[in-house]
Amino acid sequence: AAAPKKTQSETIKVCVRCRPLSSEETAKGHAVVVENNKKTGEIFVRRPFVEEAPKQFTFDGVFDWTSQQSEIYTETSAPIIANVLEGYNGTIFAYGQTGTGKTHTMTGSESDHKERGIMPRAFEDVFKSIECDSVKTQFLVRASYLEIYNEEIRDLLSKNPKNKLDLHEKPESGVYVRDLSYFAVKNVQEIQDVMLIGSKNRSVRETNMNAHSSRSHSLFTITVERSEIGADGKAHIRVGKLNMVDLAGSERLAKTGASGDGLREATKINLSLSTLCHVISALTDPKSTYIPYRDSKLTRLLQDSLGGNTKTVMISNVGPADYNYDETMNTLRYASRAKNI
Ligand code: ADP
Ligand code: MG
Repeated sequence: AAAPKKTQSETIKVCVRCRPLSSEETAKGHAVVVENNKKTGEIFVRRPFVEEAPKQFTFDGVFDWTSQQSEIYTETSAPIIANVLEGYNGTIFAYGQTGTGKTHTMTGSESDHKERGIMPRAFEDVFKSIECDSVKTQFLVRASYLEIYNEEIRDLLSKNPKNKLDLHEKPESGVYVRDLSYFAVKNVQEIQDVMLIGSKNRSVRETNMNAHSSRSHSLFTITVERSEIGADGKAHIRVGKLNMVDLAGSERLAKTGASGDGLREATKINLSLSTLCHVISALTDPKSTYIPYRDSKLTRLLQDSLGGNTKTVMISNVGPADYNYDETMNTLRYASRAKNI
């Protein structure tokens, strides 16, 4: 008989981060309508110009504009990286409307060390841990970086980043991207360089195609393979995979005025985002019997890194200002649906 299905509310966490008002928003006199309570995980949103009780949501963690990059990393991501080094998979998502801080959270600043994001901090932790362990264990670290745009996969590290790549499936290794580049990296500097090359390819396309990066999902994957000589004198290999995903902007069609090609894109982007919500919510729902991984490229690709022994965090980013009220509410509703809260 099948084992009773466990829910994954411990291993899948949904958090919210609210950025500060930008100087432009302050200059225009916009009001702050979002309030966080870090201790209780509650977030309150006040509808502008309307007398009514604020809407309240609760998450696994909430972070306001006083939260530093180091705190975000320690609270949301460090346990996932530790798990990956033990040979399990892990996934970190940044979700939210364009301009709310997804890229700031994942990549952060290149020039200001204190403002570096989750990715460079994860690189440091991976290699720090390897240095401590390298006497009795051999490590192989590899990195890949791809983008999903309009349900098409492109390699951000390829000499021909325009080529479309296909998903394939092997019985023993599961779903993979055929011909995707992997770089073996030996230290923080090397993996950092890989990230910068990919990010540059991403932004080149952004200038060629209108607001491209806000409509594509980017996925940076680190694979850590460790080989240890066990008590039996044989080599034991464990592999952990860390996925870091900067999701496409979650804003609705109406706001971007999409039509024609834009509309097609938006529907497909929303397909990946809505499938992701369905997958996470099925994983955290004890009553669900079916996980719709196959409904989008992103979830198919991450199938072995969502659920089971893996750890996942979704950081949902919102803006604090009154004019973002509707989008902020959409993001919080999405995030609480994912967690069945
Ligand atoms: P997104 O990737 O979601 O479109 P960005 O990460 O590009 O958004 O952020 C938009 C702007 O807001 C950037 O200028 C970024 O530096 C700034 N920003 C985002 N989050 C924060 C934060 N927590 N603190 C300070 N500035 C932030
Ligand atoms: Mg971005």
